[in-house]
Amino acid sequence: MSTPITVAYGDGIGPEIMEAVLSILRQAEAKISIDVIEIGERIYNKEWSHGISPSGWESIERTKILLKSPTTTPQGKGHKSLNVALRKKLELYANIRPCISYHPVIENKFDKFDIVIIRENEEDLYTGMEHRLTGDSYQCTKIITRSGSEKICRYGFEYAKRYNREKITCLTKDNIMKMTDGTFHTAFDSIAKEYPDIKAEHYIVDIGIARVATEPENFDVIVTENLYGDILSDIVAQTSGSIGLAGSSNIGSKYAMFEAVHGSAPDIAEKNIANPSGLLNAAVHMLIYIDQADVAKLVYDAWLKTLESGIHTADLYREKRSKRKVGTKEFAEAVIDNLGKKPEILPSLVISSGVSSEMSKIQSNFEQDYKVRKLVGSDITLAWDGSSNFDQIVKLFELSNLKVIAIYSKGLEIWPGYSKSSSDQVTCRFVVNNEKKIITNSDVNDLLIKLEENRFDVVRMDKLYLYDEKKGFFS
Ligand code: NAD
Repeated sequence: MSTPITVAYGDGIGPEIMEAVLSILRQAEAKISIDVIEIGERIYNKEWSHGISPSGWESIERTKILLKSPTTTPQGKGHKSLNVALRKKLELYANIRPCISYHPVIENKFDKFDIVIIRENEEDLYTGMEHRLTGDSYQCTKIITRSGSEKICRYGFEYAKRYNREKITCLTKDNIMKMTDGTFHTAFDSIAKEYPDIKAEHYIVDIGIARVATEPENFDVIVTENLYGDILSDIVAQTSGSIGLAGSSNIGSKYAMFEAVHGSAPDIAEKNIANPSGLLNAAVHMLIYIDQADVAKLVYDAWLKTLESGIHTADLYREKRSKRKVGTKEFAEAVIDNLGKKPEILPSLVISSGVSSEMSKIQSNFEQDYKVRKLVGSDITLAWDGSSNFDQIVKLFELSNLKVIAIYSKGLEIWPGYSKSSSDQVTCRFVVNNEKKIITNSDVNDLLIKLEENRFDVVRMDKLYLYDEKKGFFS
């Protein structure tokens, strides 16, 4: 029985690489039935600002699997990222990007490495919640959940276990972002205890990425947050010889999307020179996902054999190592000719049982970790033109239920101590005046009204809570 999949040809080099990949899948007798949808530039220019039409969504709803070519994100007002929309709407929480060295067949600076980057795909600074607070200042909201962190870390450990990987590295910046990145790191440490056979380590992301870029052979599976993973995976993909080689899987509990790592490359579109390997690798992972591992192996081996025989597209062609420079179509034909042949230099695909769609069922065993949540104050951000002084605010609330204990500018405490802000906004920390008194939302509302009555310009408000006496805020 064939598995229905939705296919999107995308923009730029998208149609030519998709045609090449589908021709290989057809000849390899992949049991798939294809439903083609339109996405990208043409759709953006119609009325759908996300670059996908309602019938496109319907097709994905039906098949639950999308093989996608890259799309061009038009510059300008009102256009939203199609990829971000797909990941969020389809709840594709895990992005898996294997990055392998094909040395000595393909030139790269390192002999050997085989890294799998597992990136959280729905949270972090990609919320799209950005605001202009004042004339000078802007903010972007970073959301990290304990359940999302546990789920992606568990996915990482399960992946490592099922693929017989020895080590998993977590990258965060929890020395600075103690609550958000701290939550991710804590989730990693607690899940690691359930997998004693897999070595678990953590690096601060800056030194971690520097090490991956200079000694990739020392890394195995990496699990990290959305933004760090985004940056890291392009660095590692490029390290393997060409951005045109890597494919990625985006996995959720109901849907999955497979695509190349690179973009629509408009500079080389419609010239029959693009490398279809990234999308082909994504398709190989799709075949594993739909339980057609035998076809996946057949295609992957033929692809490796083609690279080994020196048949290379322009991005990989080097006079010393390559034998024949070919176009997109001819490369696909060479892979088809090699179906059934085994690579002799490069390692074949390792497929472990149960790595298919079963992995997507991973859940976090999220449990509430507190009994009582108590409101103890509020951080209130004011637009600040310097015409008032801080003592005025402090004095105003001296006898209220909430009093000012500190004033910050861009996170730096400027009162008590200094009395000037270097920016056009300040954040006042109000806490309960009498610790024995219980405050409610009405006290915070009264605070906001009093500030407004006294002509202070509130641009933002955050509440301060204790979770079973443990602070739920930081500064
Ligand atoms: P890009 O990846 O398209 O191109 C970067 C460079 O790599 C270019 O020189 C290009 O010619 C080359 N390249 C890329 N893929 C190649 C391939 N398969 N074979 C040979 N060479 C290849 O990145 P960009 O130029 O920054 O982005 C172009 C467009 O793609 C933008 O509109 C961007 O928003 C979009 N984009 C889409 C996706 C996606 O749909 N998943 C991802 C990244 C970028």
